Amino acid sequence: MRPVIIAANWKMNTTPADAGELAATIAARTEEPEVVRVICPPYVCLAAVRDALAGTNVAVGAQNVHHEAAGAYTGEISAAALAGLATWVILGHSERRRDALESDELIGKKLARAVSSGLRPILCVGEMLAEREAGRAVEVVAAQLHGALAGKDIETLLSAGFVIAYEPVWAIGTGRTASAADAAAMAEAIRATLSADLRWGAAAEQVPVLYGGSVTSANIGEFLAEHSIDGGLVGGASLKPDEMAGMVARAAITARARAEATGKSA
Ligand code: PEP
Repeated sequence: MRPVIIAANWKMNTTPADAGELAATIAARTEEPEVVRVICPPYVCLAAVRDALAGTNVAVGAQNVHHEAAGAYTGEISAAALAGLATWVILGHSERRRDALESDELIGKKLARAVSSGLRPILCVGEMLAEREAGRAVEVVAAQLHGALAGKDIETLLSAGFVIAYEPVWAIGTGRTASAADAAAMAEAIRATLSADLRWGAAAEQVPVLYGGSVTSANIGEFLAEHSIDGGLVGGASLKPDEMAGMVARAAITARARAEATGKSA
Protein backbone atom coordinates (compact mmCIF):
# COMPACT_ATOMS: atom_id res chain seq x y z
CA MET A 1 0.00 0.00 0.00
CA ARG A 2 1.39 3.39 -1.00
CA PRO A 3 1.56 6.13 1.67
CA VAL A 4 -0.59 9.26 1.48
CA ILE A 5 1.71 12.28 1.55
CA ILE A 6 1.15 16.01 1.99
CA ALA A 7 4.36 17.91 1.21
CA ALA A 8 4.54 21.65 1.80
CA ASN A 9 6.78 23.65 -0.52
CA TRP A 10 7.25 27.02 1.14
CA LYS A 11 9.36 28.27 -1.81
CA MET A 12 11.06 31.64 -1.01
CA ASN A 13 8.70 32.43 1.86
CA THR A 14 9.34 32.67 5.63
CA THR A 15 12.52 33.71 7.46
CA PRO A 16 14.48 32.06 10.27
CA ALA A 17 12.58 34.38 12.64
CA ASP A 18 9.10 33.16 11.74
CA ALA A 19 9.47 29.73 10.09
CA GLY A 20 9.71 27.74 13.33
CA GLU A 21 6.47 29.12 14.73
CA LEU A 22 4.60 28.47 11.49
CA ALA A 23 5.95 24.91 11.31
CA ALA A 24 4.99 24.22 14.94
CA THR A 25 1.48 25.58 14.36
CA ILE A 26 1.03 23.44 11.26
CA ALA A 27 2.34 20.33 13.04
CA ALA A 28 -0.09 20.84 15.92
CA ARG A 29 -3.04 21.42 13.55
CA THR A 30 -2.32 18.39 11.32
CA GLU A 31 -1.82 15.51 13.75
CA GLU A 32 -3.02 12.62 11.60
CA PRO A 33 -0.77 9.57 12.07
CA GLU A 34 -1.92 7.98 8.80
CA VAL A 35 -0.60 10.85 6.69
CA VAL A 36 3.06 11.47 5.85
CA ARG A 37 3.69 15.19 6.36
CA VAL A 38 6.72 17.05 5.05
CA ILE A 39 7.61 20.74 5.28
CA CYS A 40 10.18 22.15 2.84
CA PRO A 41 11.23 25.67 3.89
CA PRO A 42 14.04 27.78 2.40
CA TYR A 43 17.54 26.51 3.26
CA VAL A 44 18.20 29.16 5.90
CA CYS A 45 15.00 28.21 7.73
CA LEU A 46 15.79 24.48 7.88
CA ALA A 47 17.36 24.59 11.35
CA ALA A 48 14.49 26.60 12.84
CA VAL A 49 11.91 24.26 11.29
CA ARG A 50 13.84 21.15 12.37
CA ASP A 51 13.94 22.45 15.94
CA ALA A 52 10.27 23.41 15.91
CA LEU A 53 9.28 19.96 14.61
CA ALA A 54 11.39 17.96 17.06
CA GLY A 55 9.15 15.45 18.82
CA THR A 56 6.56 15.50 16.02
CA ASN A 57 6.55 13.11 13.08
CA VAL A 58 6.55 15.90 10.52
CA ALA A 59 9.60 15.56 8.28
CA VAL A 60 11.76 18.40 6.99
CA GLY A 61 12.75 18.72 3.36
CA ALA A 62 14.99 20.96 1.29
CA GLN A 63 13.83 22.48 -1.98
CA ASN A 64 16.96 21.61 -3.95
CA VAL A 65 20.44 20.14 -3.59
CA HIS A 66 23.63 20.36 -5.65
CA HIS A 67 24.67 17.32 -7.65
CA GLU A 68 28.35 17.44 -6.70
CA ALA A 69 29.57 16.37 -3.27
CA ALA A 70 31.48 19.61 -2.56
CA GLY A 71 33.65 22.15 -4.32
CA ALA A 72 33.79 25.50 -6.07
CA TYR A 73 30.04 26.10 -6.54
CA THR A 74 29.36 29.53 -5.11
CA GLY A 75 25.92 29.89 -3.57
CA GLU A 76 25.09 26.19 -3.79
CA ILE A 77 24.29 23.70 -1.01
CA SER A 78 25.60 20.13 -0.86
CA ALA A 79 23.76 17.05 0.32
CA ALA A 80 26.32 16.71 3.12
CA ALA A 81 25.42 20.20 4.33
CA LEU A 82 21.80 19.09 4.66
CA ALA A 83 22.66 16.20 7.01
CA GLY A 84 20.86 16.70 10.29
CA LEU A 85 18.69 19.44 8.79
CA ALA A 86 16.54 17.71 6.18
CA THR A 87 15.59 14.14 5.32
CA TRP A 88 13.63 14.89 2.12
CA VAL A 89 14.44 16.97 -0.94
CA ILE A 90 12.37 18.38 -3.82
CA LEU A 91 14.12 17.97 -7.18
CA GLY A 92 13.36 19.38 -10.61
CA HIS A 93 10.65 21.82 -9.51
CA SER A 94 9.42 23.70 -12.57
CA GLU A 95 10.49 27.01 -11.00
CA ARG A 96 14.06 25.69 -10.95
CA ARG A 97 13.76 24.27 -14.46
CA ARG A 98 12.58 27.76 -15.51
CA ASP A 99 14.82 30.02 -13.39
CA ALA A 100 17.98 27.93 -13.03
CA LEU A 101 17.61 26.18 -16.40
CA GLU A 102 17.84 22.77 -14.77
CA SER A 103 17.85 20.01 -17.38
CA ASP A 104 16.54 16.48 -16.96
CA GLU A 105 20.13 15.23 -17.07
CA LEU A 106 21.17 17.57 -14.24
CA ILE A 107 18.09 16.64 -12.24
CA GLY A 108 19.07 12.99 -12.70
CA LYS A 109 22.49 13.75 -11.21
CA LYS A 110 20.88 15.54 -8.27
CA LEU A 111 18.64 12.52 -7.79
CA ALA A 112 21.63 10.21 -7.64
CA ARG A 113 23.36 12.51 -5.14
CA ALA A 114 20.27 12.81 -2.99
CA VAL A 115 19.70 9.08 -2.82
CA SER A 116 23.34 8.23 -2.11
CA SER A 117 23.26 10.81 0.68
CA GLY A 118 20.18 9.35 2.37
CA LEU A 119 17.73 12.05 1.27
CA ARG A 120 14.21 11.01 0.21
CA PRO A 121 13.58 12.61 -3.19
CA ILE A 122 10.41 14.11 -4.65
CA LEU A 123 11.01 14.35 -8.39
CA CYS A 124 8.79 16.99 -10.04
CA VAL A 125 7.59 16.58 -13.61
CA GLY A 126 4.97 18.40 -15.63
CA GLU A 127 4.11 19.94 -18.96
CA MET A 128 3.62 23.54 -20.10
CA LEU A 129 0.17 24.73 -21.18
CA ALA A 130 1.08 24.80 -24.88
CA GLU A 131 2.32 21.21 -24.60
CA ARG A 132 -0.97 20.07 -23.04
CA GLU A 133 -2.99 21.95 -25.61
CA ALA A 134 -0.96 20.30 -28.35
CA GLY A 135 -1.80 16.88 -26.87
CA ARG A 136 1.83 16.31 -25.89
CA ALA A 137 1.54 16.23 -22.08
CA VAL A 138 2.25 12.51 -21.64
CA GLU A 139 5.11 12.60 -24.15
CA VAL A 140 6.73 15.56 -22.34
CA VAL A 141 6.44 13.98 -18.89
CA ALA A 142 7.72 10.65 -20.20
CA ALA A 143 10.77 12.43 -21.64
CA GLN A 144 11.41 14.11 -18.27
CA LEU A 145 11.23 10.72 -16.56
CA HIS A 146 13.59 9.17 -19.10
CA GLY A 147 16.05 12.05 -18.74
CA ALA A 148 16.19 11.87 -14.96
CA LEU A 149 15.79 8.13 -14.39
CA ALA A 150 17.46 6.26 -17.25
CA GLY A 151 20.15 3.97 -15.91
CA LYS A 152 19.18 4.45 -12.26
CA ASP A 153 18.99 1.43 -10.00
CA ILE A 154 15.34 0.72 -9.25
CA GLU A 155 15.94 -0.98 -5.88
CA THR A 156 18.08 1.94 -4.70
CA LEU A 157 15.35 4.41 -5.59
CA LEU A 158 12.62 2.32 -4.02
CA SER A 159 14.55 1.90 -0.79
CA ALA A 160 15.14 5.66 -0.72
CA GLY A 161 11.36 6.12 -0.77
CA PHE A 162 11.37 7.77 -4.19
CA VAL A 163 8.28 9.95 -4.85
CA ILE A 164 7.12 11.64 -8.06
CA ALA A 165 5.08 14.86 -8.12
CA TYR A 166 3.07 15.56 -11.25
CA GLU A 167 2.86 19.33 -11.43
CA PRO A 168 1.47 20.80 -14.65
CA VAL A 169 3.42 24.04 -14.99
CA TRP A 170 0.32 26.05 -15.93
CA ALA A 171 -1.36 25.05 -12.66
CA ILE A 172 1.41 26.16 -10.30
CA GLY A 173 0.52 29.30 -8.38
CA THR A 174 -2.19 30.21 -10.90
CA GLY A 175 -5.34 29.15 -9.07
CA ARG A 176 -6.06 26.87 -12.02
CA THR A 177 -5.83 23.11 -11.48
CA ALA A 178 -5.74 20.10 -13.73
CA SER A 179 -8.98 18.15 -13.63
CA ALA A 180 -8.78 15.23 -11.24
CA ALA A 181 -9.38 12.88 -14.19
CA ASP A 182 -6.48 14.38 -16.17
CA ALA A 183 -4.19 14.26 -13.12
CA ALA A 184 -5.14 10.63 -12.48
CA ALA A 185 -4.56 9.75 -16.13
CA MET A 186 -1.12 11.32 -15.93
CA ALA A 187 -0.31 9.44 -12.71
CA GLU A 188 -1.19 6.24 -14.54
CA ALA A 189 0.88 7.29 -17.56
CA ILE A 190 3.83 7.98 -15.24
CA ARG A 191 3.63 4.49 -13.75
CA ALA A 192 3.21 3.00 -17.23
CA THR A 193 6.37 4.81 -18.37
CA LEU A 194 8.29 3.50 -15.36
CA SER A 195 6.91 0.02 -15.75
CA ALA A 196 7.33 -0.50 -19.50
CA ASP A 197 9.74 2.03 -21.01
CA LEU A 198 12.09 2.21 -18.03
CA ARG A 199 11.63 -1.49 -17.22
CA TRP A 200 10.54 -1.12 -13.62
CA GLY A 201 7.80 -3.72 -14.11
CA ALA A 202 5.50 -4.17 -11.14
CA ALA A 203 7.79 -2.00 -8.97
CA ALA A 204 6.25 1.07 -10.64
CA GLU A 205 3.13 0.45 -8.55
CA GLN A 206 5.12 1.13 -5.40
CA VAL A 207 6.02 4.71 -6.36
CA PRO A 208 3.77 7.36 -4.79
CA VAL A 209 2.62 9.98 -7.31
CA LEU A 210 1.50 13.32 -5.87
CA TYR A 211 -0.45 16.02 -7.68
CA GLY A 212 0.71 19.63 -7.40
CA GLY A 213 -0.69 22.84 -8.83
CA SER A 214 -2.97 25.21 -6.90
CA VAL A 215 -4.04 22.51 -4.44
CA THR A 216 -6.16 23.79 -1.55
CA SER A 217 -8.31 22.31 1.20
CA ALA A 218 -11.31 22.93 -1.07
CA ASN A 219 -10.08 20.92 -4.05
CA ILE A 220 -7.72 18.27 -2.63
CA GLY A 221 -10.58 15.83 -2.12
CA GLU A 222 -11.11 15.57 -5.89
CA PHE A 223 -7.50 14.47 -6.39
CA LEU A 224 -7.39 12.14 -3.39
CA ALA A 225 -10.54 10.41 -4.63
CA GLU A 226 -8.40 9.09 -7.49
CA HIS A 227 -6.76 5.78 -6.66
CA SER A 228 -3.63 6.63 -8.67
CA ILE A 229 -2.92 9.89 -6.76
CA ASP A 230 -1.21 9.56 -3.40
CA GLY A 231 -1.28 13.10 -2.03
CA GLY A 232 -0.23 16.63 -2.84
CA LEU A 233 2.81 18.83 -3.25
CA VAL A 234 1.41 22.14 -2.10
CA GLY A 235 2.86 25.62 -2.52
CA GLY A 236 0.81 28.69 -1.63
CA ALA A 237 -1.79 26.95 0.52
CA SER A 238 0.91 25.22 2.58
CA LEU A 239 1.77 28.54 4.26
CA LYS A 240 -1.70 28.71 5.84
CA PRO A 241 -2.32 26.52 8.92
CA ASP A 242 -6.07 26.35 8.28
CA GLU A 243 -5.44 25.13 4.74
CA MET A 244 -2.87 22.58 5.88
CA ALA A 245 -5.27 21.34 8.57
CA GLY A 246 -8.00 20.88 5.96
CA MET A 247 -5.74 19.16 3.43
CA VAL A 248 -4.20 16.75 5.93
CA ALA A 249 -7.60 15.93 7.44
CA ARG A 250 -8.87 15.05 3.96
CA ALA A 251 -5.73 13.04 3.25
CA ALA A 252 -6.30 11.07 6.46
CA ILE A 253 -9.73 10.00 5.18
CA THR A 254 -8.11 8.56 2.05
CA ALA A 255 -5.30 6.93 4.03
CA ARG A 256 -7.78 5.24 6.38
CA ALA A 257 -9.98 4.10 3.50
CA ARG A 258 -6.99 2.58 1.73
CA ALA A 259 -5.82 0.82 4.89
CA GLU A 260 -9.30 -0.56 5.42
CA ALA A 261 -9.54 -1.74 1.82
CA THR A 262 -6.15 -3.43 2.07
CA GLY A 263 -7.11 -5.08 5.35
CA LYS A 264 -10.35 -6.36 3.87
CA SER A 265 -8.70 -7.76 0.78
CA ALA A 266 -5.79 -9.32 2.73
C1 PEP B 1 4.47 24.00 -5.86
O1 PEP B 1 5.15 24.86 -5.35
O2 PEP B 1 4.96 22.93 -6.13
C2 PEP B 1 3.06 24.30 -6.14
C3 PEP B 1 2.33 23.34 -6.66
O3 PEP B 1 2.61 25.54 -5.86
P1 PEP B 1 1.07 26.01 -5.72
O4 PEP B 1 0.40 25.02 -4.81
O5 PEP B 1 1.13 27.38 -5.15
O6 PEP B 1 0.47 25.98 -7.08
